[in-house]
Amino acid sequence: MRLSRYFMPILKENPKEAEIVSHRLMLRAGMIRQQSQGIYSWLPLGKRVLDKVNAIVREEQNRAGAIELSMPTLQSAELWQESGRYDAYGKEMLRIRDRQDRPMLYGPTNEEMVTDIFRSYVKSYKDLPLNLYHIQLKFRDEIRPRFGTMRSREFLMKDAYSFDLTREGAEHSYRKMFAAYLRTFSRLGLRAIPMRADTGPIGGNLSHEFIILADTGESEVFSHKDFVNFDIPSADTDFDDVAGLQSIFDQWTSVYAATSEMHDEAAFSAIPEAERLSARGIEVGHIFYFGEKYSEPMGAKVQGPDGKEHFVHMGSYGIGPTRLVPAIIEASHDENGIIWPASVAPFDIVVINMKSGDEACDSACEKLYSAFMKAGKDVLLDDRDDRAGTKFATADLIGVPVQVIVGPRSVASGEVEVKDRKTGARETMTIEAAVNRLVG
Ligand code: ATP
Ligand code: MG
Repeated sequence: MRLSRYFMPILKENPKEAEIVSHRLMLRAGMIRQQSQGIYSWLPLGKRVLDKVNAIVREEQNRAGAIELSMPTLQSAELWQESGRYDAYGKEMLRIRDRQDRPMLYGPTNEEMVTDIFRSYVKSYKDLPLNLYHIQLKFRDEIRPRFGTMRSREFLMKDAYSFDLTREGAEHSYRKMFAAYLRTFSRLGLRAIPMRADTGPIGGNLSHEFIILADTGESEVFSHKDFVNFDIPSADTDFDDVAGLQSIFDQWTSVYAATSEMHDEAAFSAIPEAERLSARGIEVGHIFYFGEKYSEPMGAKVQGPDGKEHFVHMGSYGIGPTRLVPAIIEASHDENGIIWPASVAPFDIVVINMKSGDEACDSACEKLYSAFMKAGKDVLLDDRDDRAGTKFATADLIGVPVQVIVGPRSVASGEVEVKDRKTGARETMTIEAAVNRLVG
């Protein structure tokens, strides 16, 4: 992408409305624009990052055996009347009427709809287990939307729903998602801690919130420091291996970790003081086993091996991609801007032409640009007619992991500078060496 032809509206001033660093940087880098309270457009640079986050979420859902579909944002109120949630859900639900005056709503979540799909087609235990997911916009009329896309009213959610014949089966499905979440957050460059979460009136202990630590987080969290040493399940994890997944789950739930709602001061005090972690965190995912809560009122049942009908055991599993983008920034930035983990960076490389219009600089840049493109890299070429200082500031602000700096002096001797955005380390090398290094 040539920056001169791109759409990346950088802000020079710090926007007043942004209270936290991720919101400030997303606005300054031209990633998002608020359209009305808590409702955002994703501008091209932001959209690139969001797409990369979604791709990782999707890959890990697929790896764990979940199957993607797509359900609509607008739902009929009827389904929600069946489950009893149409009245129970409060003002967070946006209720709409169509021209026939039929009550509709903008989905805040999809348990009812996916249960309806399930009951329409699945009749036998032989078709289980099943896990269906989509990545779709949700709307919740949050009382306090804030911090940009961290807590917005319209937001993207990956929501998966599992169906099993038995509680044991459902627990295995839960642990698949548990392991998939550990992998997902790790690939996004985050260390997320699964914390016991409130299961509300249904009870049981199968609910975890995945929290990343950040001073600006809205949740108060308490945990053991051991989490930093636990291994992330490997890419070749066998998701059908019941005992294997159980042991991953057992390790990750063996030490204390709870949000303030579930906090047990006595259990926390029992941890030696030096190993206690009391901090703030951002909830990036939430998984839940809720048994027959929806299958029973909505009549989602299958025939079991005993020939009898059984209500299926269900779970739901959410991740918020539009919250993850700012969460990654909260965890990875410096005073000059964003520092993207390579896995979600909007571009892999930015080539900075310090003197656009200079023949030698232009031709070296073109050479680098086409070599990187040919190698399948996402590359941004800063070919704007602007000062070198402005270009350096832009590159640092938007956080592309590698900068290749092309200036008139070094180009005269066939050399360029390669800068690592994270460490700031710079290295001078020939154009060929830079290409070899970065396409390898
Ligand atoms: P919170 O306690 O932060 O309101 P929640 O418990 O209501 O979250 P869930 O219903 O479990 O959230 O939704 C699953 C995921 O969707 C959350 O873990 C979060 O990543 C994301 N999410 C929920 N609400 C929002 C929001 N208003 N803006 C952005 N992402 C959200
Ligand atoms: Mg909420």
